[in-house]
Amino acid sequence: MPERRLLFKNLDEPGLRTLDVYKRRGGYRALERAIRELEPDQIIAEIEESGLRGRGGAGFSMGKKGSFLPRGDMPKYLCCNADESEPGTFKDRELMFKNPHGLIEGIVIAAIAVGAQHAFIFIRGEYWDVADVLDAAVREAYDAGLVGERILGSNHSVQLVVHRGAGAYICGEETALLDSLEGKRGNPRLKPPFPAVQGLYGGPTLINNVETLMNVPHIIRHGAEWYKRLGTEQSTGTKVVSVSGHVQRPGNYEIELGIPAREIIFGLAGGPPPGRRVKVWFPGGSSAPVLTEEELDLPYSFESMAEAGSMLGSGAIIVGDDTVSVPELALRTARFYHHESCGKCSPCREGTNWTVKMLERVVRGEATPMDLDIIASVQENIIGNCLCVLGDAMAMPVGSMVRKFRHEFEEVIERARAAHGGPLDAAPDDVPPVPLGVHA
Ligand code: SF4
Repeated sequence: MPERRLLFKNLDEPGLRTLDVYKRRGGYRALERAIRELEPDQIIAEIEESGLRGRGGAGFSMGKKGSFLPRGDMPKYLCCNADESEPGTFKDRELMFKNPHGLIEGIVIAAIAVGAQHAFIFIRGEYWDVADVLDAAVREAYDAGLVGERILGSNHSVQLVVHRGAGAYICGEETALLDSLEGKRGNPRLKPPFPAVQGLYGGPTLINNVETLMNVPHIIRHGAEWYKRLGTEQSTGTKVVSVSGHVQRPGNYEIELGIPAREIIFGLAGGPPPGRRVKVWFPGGSSAPVLTEEELDLPYSFESMAEAGSMLGSGAIIVGDDTVSVPELALRTARFYHHESCGKCSPCREGTNWTVKMLERVVRGEATPMDLDIIASVQENIIGNCLCVLGDAMAMPVGSMVRKFRHEFEEVIERARAAHGGPLDAAPDDVPPVPLGVHA
């Protein structure tokens, strides 16, 4: 089986969320080692050496990020980004719900490494049940001296707070998260300065995703060399992949990075229903450019997905079989990002709105072939020109759908023209839209 359980090991053991069972399974031994045997700089060096890359979307080296924080006694912060909102992504929810101490241990080790005395778990508001589980686990950890003042009798102190978000996708963007945590409206900030230099309350701040931080105890306990043996040279370790859409066994699976995507979609998730084939798939959440059936044998790694013109992102694979209408999929994707745009910068605010309107024209059978060129060119103009990545998050997948499935968009337009019996511009308003439905 292509599963390789590291974070998911013991995950289904009853009671794992309690301190007692977590410790019986080796929990908090990494924290003891970090405190008794390592200096903070050595912890960062070990994480950097392991090659661990961010599991929330950007894929940046966690060790490098940690090393960007200045040394010294100024107030520093650690924020765990648990605002998991990317469509198709539900891995952090399961990890936190079943193994909250695994996250707390990772946070405390990372906070000690960068000298942060205050740490926050920013969890999306809809995960209220998970937040309750985290609250209980944090209380247990405080009572056991694993969080708080003079942890395990050392000179290290870390205060940890679980903060519930209010349900805005944009607060998963790291600087919007900081604004929201400070009690402001969650709007992205202009970078630089980057959070490592000027983050929460103006202090140096390390921000990492849940899954990233949960890898830390394993690296500290077993060493960077051991960790590096898993995965590929540029994508070390394992990845928890959320598989959804047209598959027979949707769910979270932990795999070693670098195995063929086909093994995940077919071997683990059972592939599409009998008689259907994979037509389109997102390899890393709905903001990743889409891939096709011909790309199913690519290794599932950061570098391979990037070489294919897409990205591993949050590790959420969404599969569409041959019943999916790609123009409708593009519209649904664009609508989500348009709704979640904070409106602060015009390429995103206007671009997402305008893309939705154009795609609605396509789906309603009112577009012309020239509109496809305009839609494609608008996406190109959004990419790289926004204040944060949300604009790109719509433009990249929509642009890739128009590029890779242009024939299908054209087919929709042609069918509409034929049904209308002439140029679309001349069509009366009451002509019913051409039904798209199923493309078998
Ligand atoms: Fe707001 Fe979109 Fe600009 Fe990001 S890209 S700052 S979400 S308007």
